[in-house]
Amino acid sequence: MAEAGSFADRVKNQADIVRVISEYVRLKKSGQNFTGLCPFHGEKTPSFAVHPVKQIFHCFGCGKGGDVFSFVMEMEKCPFPEAVKVVAEKCGIPVPSPKERTPEERKENQQRAALIEIHRETQSFFTRQLESTAEGRAARAYLEDRGLNPETITKFGIGYAPSGGDVLLRQLKSKYAEKLLVESGVISRDQSGARLFDRFRKRITFPIANESGKIVAFGCRALGDDLPKYLNSPETPIYSKSNVLYHMDRAKEPIRRQDFAILVEGYMDAIAVARAGIGNVVASCGTSLAEPQIKLLGRFTKRVIVNYDPDVAGQAATERSLTLLLEHDFEVRVLALPPIGEKKADPDLFIREKGAEAYIKLLKEAPPYVDYLIARARQMDLSTGEGKQRALNFLMPYVQRIPNRLLRSEWATRIAQQLRIDEPVLRAALNKSATERRGEVKVAPQLVGKPAKQIERRLIRMLAEAEGFKQELAQRLQHGRLYEGLETEKVFAALIVAGLSDEPIPATEIGAQLEERERRLFFEILFEDAQEPTWEEAESCLDALRRRQIEQELAKVQKTIEANPSGAGLRELLERKQELMKQLTAAGQPG
Ligand SMILES: [Zn+2]
Repeated sequence: MAEAGSFADRVKNQADIVRVISEYVRLKKSGQNFTGLCPFHGEKTPSFAVHPVKQIFHCFGCGKGGDVFSFVMEMEKCPFPEAVKVVAEKCGIPVPSPKERTPEERKENQQRAALIEIHRETQSFFTRQLESTAEGRAARAYLEDRGLNPETITKFGIGYAPSGGDVLLRQLKSKYAEKLLVESGVISRDQSGARLFDRFRKRITFPIANESGKIVAFGCRALGDDLPKYLNSPETPIYSKSNVLYHMDRAKEPIRRQDFAILVEGYMDAIAVARAGIGNVVASCGTSLAEPQIKLLGRFTKRVIVNYDPDVAGQAATERSLTLLLEHDFEVRVLALPPIGEKKADPDLFIREKGAEAYIKLLKEAPPYVDYLIARARQMDLSTGEGKQRALNFLMPYVQRIPNRLLRSEWATRIAQQLRIDEPVLRAALNKSATERRGEVKVAPQLVGKPAKQIERRLIRMLAEAEGFKQELAQRLQHGRLYEGLETEKVFAALIVAGLSDEPIPATEIGAQLEERERRLFFEILFEDAQEPTWEEAESCLDALRRRQIEQELAKVQKTIEANPSGAGLRELLERKQELMKQLTAAGQPG
């Protein structure tokens, strides 16, 4: 796909696939390759491999594989040109200004850029208000009273939306069309449609950035007793609540480094935790976690500690989030903070009252989610059969979602012990519901490529990369038609064409010509740990194929003779048989 000399080709040559993929998958060096958990199918043990020299990846589980562009296309669900751009940007390669797209696309891009600009201006407006107006200074005092010092206020860009009703509007309306301002969500239109006004009034403002740090929305908290307490930006062309995690732009590095994330409910919680020196925290901003948010998080880690508010809404949110996280193969722990006096503690309150160290201690002790759920179930009345059934009904959906059978069985035992339920009864219930479960049963991925014999695998490897003699090898195979009838015939055919060509043809391009099954086999072979091939080895493999060819013909001749012992061509057949026997002796014994 990347034509020689094209921009895509240049990007491909300069990009390092290991670096690009590391942004999505945690890779570990393993022999000559890097391996990790496949981002394309759920798995617990790594079967996803990246080859730094060949610049290709391959999953031995689900069979996905290709070059850096196919990876990004699959990961970002984007077309080829977009993938080239993404890779170029990640590798700091300047992207030539795009050719004029369709008028609609151009308009959309301009609109998005203008909306980002409006947010940037609004952000500096809010921060100025906090610093330089009487109203703003009162808000600042309130923040300081909540323990936010000036550095924190600056670091998190906390600002103030004044009560006037059109202070921001007056600032923006000379520069932007009314329609665009309304689309941005920072300005609203009244019901009659005639009048515009500031959406956020008399509120503390928290900028919400997308993953790359651009402000795309605001979360605002009422200063007094105004309702609602929290008011956020509406959905806009640049902001969708379910796609963004608050603080992700700053948290992604710490998350990747520590390989886990702390998930809290609101921005005040995230700020409190981050201030306590724990940078790997994100907030779902709203009580329920959405699937795109989980996918975003999953690009950086598969381990999460959920620390939602301990109230009823928070518990429900925790349980909903658990369901989703488990379905996406996250390893989940739950931190339920103990109350402070009479008050139920969210992370913000807890850290203010008890300090960062106490929080970190609890974080370290946070139990696996099943323990949390069992504790919740034990709060139910377990003295009656119906009570136990209710507790079981509460737990069962979670246990069923554990993809790993062994783990599922382990948890069944623990639940039985903790709830004092007869274990066989519980297992029967579990098995029954497991068979009733539809659609989410994950079938273990199978290795497809195994049938090829060792000799074929070696020859394929040589044809792909033995620079010294692959052309010679291709000629010999071609000339003697030695690969015909092999299970790997199609792989050979593609490699021989490539081997006979004077231009080097990358493995991914050969792979692209093959059917899915063959491509998988081919990539698997490329990833096998193997010693450097020699011409001697190649020759002995060729000999083996030649013997196989002769033996097959011999068997055919023999069959014809036996089928018709008195037939007309018997004499020729017997001669051919003699000839083949001689050739077989000459071809030597299998070595
Ligand atoms: Zn996979």
